[in-house]
Amino acid sequence: MTDQLRVLIVEDNHEDMQLVLHTLRQGGFRPVFRQVIDAASMKVALEEDSWDIILAGYALSRFSALAALNVLQQSGRDIPFIVIVDTVGEKGANTAMRAGAHDYVVKNNMLRLVGAVRREITEAFTRQEREKKSLYLDQLNQITRAAATILDDERMLRTQANLVTKLLEADGAYISLWDDLHQVAIPTAAHDVMHRPYRQIQVQNGEVTLTHTVVQSGYPLVVANSQDSPYVSKRLLQKLPSNSLLALPLIVGEQKLGALIVTYSTQHSFSADEILRGEQAAGQIALAVARMRLLTAEREQRELAETLHKVASALNSSLDREEVLNVILDQLLRVVAYDSASVLLLTENVLHSVAYRSLHPQVKRAKTLPVNDLPHFQEMLQTRKPLVMNDTAVDKRWQSASGTDLIRCWLGVPMLVQDKVIGILNLNHTQPGFYTEQDVKVTTTFARQAAIAIENARLYEQQQAYTADLEQRVQERTRALAEANERLKELDRLKSKFVSDVTHELRTPVTSLKLYLDLMSQVNSEKQANYLKVVKSQADRLGQLITDILNLSKLEVESTAVTFTTLDLNRLVETVVDEHRPQAQAAGLQLDCTLAVNPLFIRGNHSQLVQVVTNLLTNAIHYTSQGYVQVSTQWDEAQRMMLLTIKDSGMGIPEQERPLLFDRFYRGERTGQLSVPGTGLGLAIVKEIIDMHQGKIELESKVDVGSTFYIYLPAVSDKVS
Ligand code: ADP
Repeated sequence: MTDQLRVLIVEDNHEDMQLVLHTLRQGGFRPVFRQVIDAASMKVALEEDSWDIILAGYALSRFSALAALNVLQQSGRDIPFIVIVDTVGEKGANTAMRAGAHDYVVKNNMLRLVGAVRREITEAFTRQEREKKSLYLDQLNQITRAAATILDDERMLRTQANLVTKLLEADGAYISLWDDLHQVAIPTAAHDVMHRPYRQIQVQNGEVTLTHTVVQSGYPLVVANSQDSPYVSKRLLQKLPSNSLLALPLIVGEQKLGALIVTYSTQHSFSADEILRGEQAAGQIALAVARMRLLTAEREQRELAETLHKVASALNSSLDREEVLNVILDQLLRVVAYDSASVLLLTENVLHSVAYRSLHPQVKRAKTLPVNDLPHFQEMLQTRKPLVMNDTAVDKRWQSASGTDLIRCWLGVPMLVQDKVIGILNLNHTQPGFYTEQDVKVTTTFARQAAIAIENARLYEQQQAYTADLEQRVQERTRALAEANERLKELDRLKSKFVSDVTHELRTPVTSLKLYLDLMSQVNSEKQANYLKVVKSQADRLGQLITDILNLSKLEVESTAVTFTTLDLNRLVETVVDEHRPQAQAAGLQLDCTLAVNPLFIRGNHSQLVQVVTNLLTNAIHYTSQGYVQVSTQWDEAQRMMLLTIKDSGMGIPEQERPLLFDRFYRGERTGQLSVPGTGLGLAIVKEIIDMHQGKIELESKVDVGSTFYIYLPAVSDKVS
């Protein structure tokens, strides 16, 4: 087996050239050669062909090895250059080596030439490989550098695509990112010589894409013929025609980021080395995308923190619910896009919109939404979890209404207070599949803030109401206390008046008693008998006064602790009337008593009511000089009360005295003239007792004709048995 060797010989001596060729053939080479004798012919040879080696005689008649070396260097090619010299130790050999020749051989030791050629060829190959590799590494470095230095994401990816095209000597490179949530490829950046708008290509639902294939498998995919490949969508191929392509997954760790697709317009067979390079470039791009995502996430996080800070300060500075909720919706828009958004509050299965923002004039606000008519709200109230409707046009839960037909993507997040749903934060977008998991997360944070705002406002309102209520109660209490105080003052005044009245009233009989007792010792026995009568009557009056005063004060003491029993008014009246018959008889009066047929049960204090009847009856007898006194009891249907009537044919009570009649110690003007004994306390006692029994007194009277006192008392029950 002989190796073909493309050799360029710089020599004008025919014999020397033959020697060289002979030696090479002997050494197992099959030389294909060209001879050049000057710089011009050498230049042509270098340009026209590629050479494995150049062998040059040291000195030619019009040329030299050194000049040839210069021509080679000028051409920029890396071809092994061996100089052939005449004798050992010739200084020309050293000069040539210093100038850049790779080796030299001495004419009389030509056998060395074979070994030298073999070695130089191998070395040149290694050298060229190394150079290629370093060029490749340099390009790969550029990809890495671009990732680190270009801040605009899209421009960075476009640069990467451009570099990849160069690196793999391809016709185009496309980077498509993978949306894991929606399981769809998103054409993102391209180096496309035809400048076709790659980003505008929409991947259809369920369409097979190379990105999907390689992201799922995690391995590169070589497509030698795009037309025949089941992995290439015919629709996409029409938009971006190619003959062969290489699809490489962009994966970092567990993250499936997308794919790099390298295309060739001609049929291309991929070498293992090319695939390896592609993988390395894809690795760099994947890192860049991951970094880009991290930066985006970090930026979003920072923005989120900033907006949440704003929301929190709005929460702290204002308790006005509407204001805070509007701030929340405005801030939310900075981090999650929407065409319209609202805060809905739940009361008795109806959602009320309390805050609203719309960027789309045609999306209309719904003020109230009955939960029972809206399955998506119902579902959320049950699960208490966020809900996304990716396409309202196909989602059965969506109930379209006028003003909502433009909404295609819906995101709802429940607002919770102590695990109870108080409302919903609700975002609408006109683009289907718009909301991502990240949007849900961010909106949830805002929903939490909104819930706090609402709860704070509610607590504040409650506290305000409580304070107002408390204030009103304090005012009422103060007023009541002031009134009580006034009453106490009045009572105190009455008491003082009562004491002075009592003192005055007691003094009168005592004075006259003293007077008559003094006189008694100085007068004869006839007069004494008269005086004794006066003394007796004054002593009676004193006794009556004391009894009445005691009764009155007893009433005051008992007013809270008096015991009531069920008693029959008929029997009580009858007894009192009977007791007074002798008195009436003595006065020459007719005393009638007409009682209701059925017993009249009332609840009352027996001795107090006896006192009432006694006082009224005594008055009637006292203030009637002739005629009758009539006592009767009955059920008064009109008033639905028991009625006791005491009527006399006495002196009557003038109109002007009637308002004073029930005052303590008040006595009618004519009573004094008629010298009827009395204290002026009888009716005051009656009035007080009747008040305590929740009854009432009425009076009819005509001077010199007579008076009638009507006493109404509540029955035990309305029904009279
Ligand atoms: P008193 O009878 O001890 O004077 P009362 O309080 O019982 O005191 O009565 C107050 C006044 O009412 C009496 O002084 C009298 O002028 C008038 N009065 C009471 N009952 C009658 C009556 N049946 N007929 C006329 N005047 C009466």
